Amino acid sequence: MLRLAFCGLGAIGTPMARHLASGAFDLIVWNRTTARATAFGEAQGVRVADSPAHAATDRDIVVTCLPTSRDVASLLDGPDGLLATLAPGATLLDCTSGDPGTSRQIAARLAERGVRFLDAPVSGGVNGAEAGTLTVMCGGEAADLERVRPVLEAFGQRIVHAGPVGAGHALKAVNNAMLAMHIWGAAEGLAALAKAGVRPDLALEVINASSGRSNTTENLFPQRVLTGAFPRTFRAALLDKDVGIAADIARAEHVPSPLLQLTAELWRMAHQELGEEADHVEAVRVVERLAGVALRSGPLSSSEPSA
Ligand code: NDP
Repeated sequence: MLRLAFCGLGAIGTPMARHLASGAFDLIVWNRTTARATAFGEAQGVRVADSPAHAATDRDIVVTCLPTSRDVASLLDGPDGLLATLAPGATLLDCTSGDPGTSRQIAARLAERGVRFLDAPVSGGVNGAEAGTLTVMCGGEAADLERVRPVLEAFGQRIVHAGPVGAGHALKAVNNAMLAMHIWGAAEGLAALAKAGVRPDLALEVINASSGRSNTTENLFPQRVLTGAFPRTFRAALLDKDVGIAADIARAEHVPSPLLQLTAELWRMAHQELGEEADHVEAVRVVERLAGVALRSGPLSSSEPSA
């Protein structure tokens, strides 16, 4: 039985870890805020570690799912850090949507100890994590991917080897930058239409039968914007981070990328205005505020004062 540790029981980490607690693996969990780990341990009947070092003791695979690669790097050092106990032959499987440069540094440090590293960010959101239908994009050695495949298959439906260490993170960042473009573009377009007298629900009906459609117009806007529900599943702060990573990659690779750079700037602004806890789709509220119109179902109305 594979011996696993899971570190980072956040919005997506928790449903991912739940699939690993089904009894097929020997699992221990760790979370920075202990209360979350304790609640998970009690609900799932798994052990809780009191430090990253404790979590990594005697483990074949340590899974991390934290906001940024810097957060993952910060778990490595000190007497309580992962490096204190990660054994040669073990693998650090990082499901964070991180950045390729920091991951290459982490991989190099682990390699000095004979520990393997894979970046394995996921897409599919909290719903996909709950259903076990995530897409996983991996960076690292193919043989390392085969070793961790049973873990990835517990929460993932499509598992793709993207390339060397960092390739998974790069692919994830570009995917999310495109999501960010779709959200902002749909919000601006629908705001302009609303000002011109076309209702957002009617506009979306037509766009979703036409070539402008996307997951954003087919799902996010009808479910979250037209209804005004704006559930919190993926923080705008995290999408801002992802777009920034994609923009940095394009710059580093000398690819002219005015649209990516502008998108990064817009999401930095939205993040600043909305704060740390707002959902990514709440960026629409920023466009609504600037335009002075609310994109809800039904008769046209001016934007809400809270927007
Ligand atoms: P959350 O903000 O909900 O959770 C973050 C988790 O990381 C919490 O467990 C938090 O612990 C922990 N954490 C934060 N900072 C540190 C630190 N410095 N040291 C140790 N632990 C830390 O994030 P999500 O679960 O939403 O996202 C996790 C990763 O997955 C991100 O990279 C995100 O971009 C990516 N992702 C998220 C998706 C989503 O739909 N939510 C979809 C696809 C990818 P604590 O409980 O103490 O706060």
